[in-house]
Order: sequence, then C-alpha cells, then structure tokens
Amino acid sequence: MEKLILDGTKVAEGVKASLKERVEELKKKGKTPCLATILVGDDPSSETYVRMKGNACQKIGIDSKRIHLPEETTTEELLAVIDELNEDEKVDGILLQHPVPSHVDERAAFERIDIEKDVDGVTSFGYGQTALGFGKYPSCTPAAILRIIDDYEIPVKGKHAVVIGRSPILGKPVSALLLNRDATVTTCHSHTQNLPDIVKQADIVIAAVGRPEFVKGDWIKKGAVILDAGYNKGNIGDVDYDACYENASAITPVPGGVGPVTISMLLKHTVDAAEEKTFN
Ligand code: NAP
Repeated sequence: MEKLILDGTKVAEGVKASLKERVEELKKKGKTPCLATILVGDDPSSETYVRMKGNACQKIGIDSKRIHLPEETTTEELLAVIDELNEDEKVDGILLQHPVPSHVDERAAFERIDIEKDVDGVTSFGYGQTALGFGKYPSCTPAAILRIIDDYEIPVKGKHAVVIGRSPILGKPVSALLLNRDATVTTCHSHTQNLPDIVKQADIVIAAVGRPEFVKGDWIKKGAVILDAGYNKGNIGDVDYDACYENASAITPVPGGVGPVTISMLLKHTVDAAEEKTFN
C-alpha cells in the first residue's frame, strides 16, 4: 500500500510563507502584529517553548513581547498582568505558557484573556465558539491537525475519527472540529474500556495521550490515517510509529509532524487578530 508521510514541516513552511506576505501588508498600514507571551516560573521546557514561539514570531516579522514572571507570582498578580495586556492596543494575541506553578489558578488566568486576543484558544468562551462551529481561534494543536488534514486533502466527512485524549486544549477541541466537519467522532480517555477495539474501527486516529508509543500497530485498521499530537521526552510520539506505519495509509512523524504546524497556527491566529483590528 502506498504510504503518505504527512510532512508537518512542509505544511508549516507554507503557512509561514503566506503569513509573511500578510504581515508585510499590515506593516504598510502602519501595523505590526504583536504576540505577548507570559511565562511564570523557571521550568526549562516551558522556557524553551516560549523562546521557540517568540523566535518564530520574529522570523516572519511579528513583534514578540515576552513577559517572564517569578515562580512566586500570585494569581492576582498574574491576572493584573493579563489585564494590562488586554488593554494594550499594540498587543494582538496573548499566550500564557502552561502549566503555570501549582499555586496559581490557571483556569482563572486563562479566562481573564480577552476573547479577541485568545489566539491560543484557551478560554471557555473560545472553546464554546469552536464547539459551535464559529470559533475564530481554536486551540493551536487541534487547528494544526485540521490544517494537515486539509493540506493533504484527507477526507473527513462520514469517516470514523477516534480521538485518544480529552484535554481542554487538545482532545476535546479536536473532537469538536472533526464533528463539525461531519466525521463520526469517538473521544477516548483513561476510563475508556476496550480501547484497542475502538481504535481498530477508526478511519482517522488522533493520538493525544501524553504517553510514549502508546498506540500499538495491531490497533490500526488497514488504510487508517494517523495524526500523532504526542510529544514526549526524547522526541517520541504517542504512537508506536514503526509498527503503526505498517497498516496506515498516512501518518505524521514525530518530530516534524503536528508540532511545527502548531506553532504556525499560533502565528496565523496572531496575524488574523491583527488584521481584524486593522481592516475591520
Ligand atoms: P493531558 O492534558 O495530559 O491529557 C491526556 C489525555 O489522555 C487525558 O484526556 C487522559 O484521560 C488521556 N489518557 C491518559 N492515559 C490514557 C489511557 N491509558 N488510555 C486512554 N486515554 C488516556 O495531555 P495534553 O495536553 O492533551 O497532551 C497530549 C499529548 O500531546 C502530549 O504528548 C503532549 O506533549 C502533546 N502535545 C503536543 C502539542 C504539540 O504542539 N504537538 C501541544 C500540546 C500537547 P483522562 O482525561 O481520563 O485523564
């Protein structure tokens, strides 16, 4: 069977090339899109992620305003910083890097982000809009998964999509996006019984579990399409790639699959938000 390796790096390059042109048009109007990132504490992986996102902005001409708060920041202090960014006319998007330290009320912080600047799709309002089918900025990894599906023209309508994971930023919104595209969606989680049997029915498998090589080769129906959102220590996905590759018709690698497209979706949402302000 012919295999398709779904090349996320290539998809991301395409997105970024079109964004560069849009940023240039905005600059002609005197507007430079700006993404504010907030990092609380000194978690090294979070620092790396925030740096990568800031650098990605700069490469395509988006301003990045980086705010690094100390570990002992209180919820109230964080909310005050978000309020300031909400008020700041220059800022088009706000990204609060998560997880935040455990003493901070992460949900309260997410909810404080102005819906117009929620380019990372973390507010419950944004999630609700996404679920109802008119969200402007769905959470970035689900948006990336749909972008890969669209770029490779993978049929979704009427297909059985099995999503493994139900987190607010990944499993739930990607399930909603697929449902809105007329897939029949089964969302699985840690209490799901007979998971392998359910995955065996899938035309499209979305792995969003957070466990290395969790999805096994003999769970995959012949011809299924696999999108692996997992990103575990050592650049390992949530899918046992070599074994799953055998039966799949298309599969995302890790790294080089969903990850790079996720960042490009954050950039896209920031440019969308800047355009909305400038042209509407
Ligand atoms: P999460 O919040 O930890 O959620 C994991 C989900 O997997 C939960 O819904 C959990 O079920 C479910 N789960 C755990 N063990 C399971 C099992 N044995 N059987 C079935 N379901 C199980 O993780 P997340 O933030 O959604 O991230 C998931 C993965 O995507 C991670 O590898 C993460 O690194 C990656 N990720 C990648 C990107 C990217 O840009 N590529 C972005 C975000 C996340 P319960 O709800 O029942 O606990």
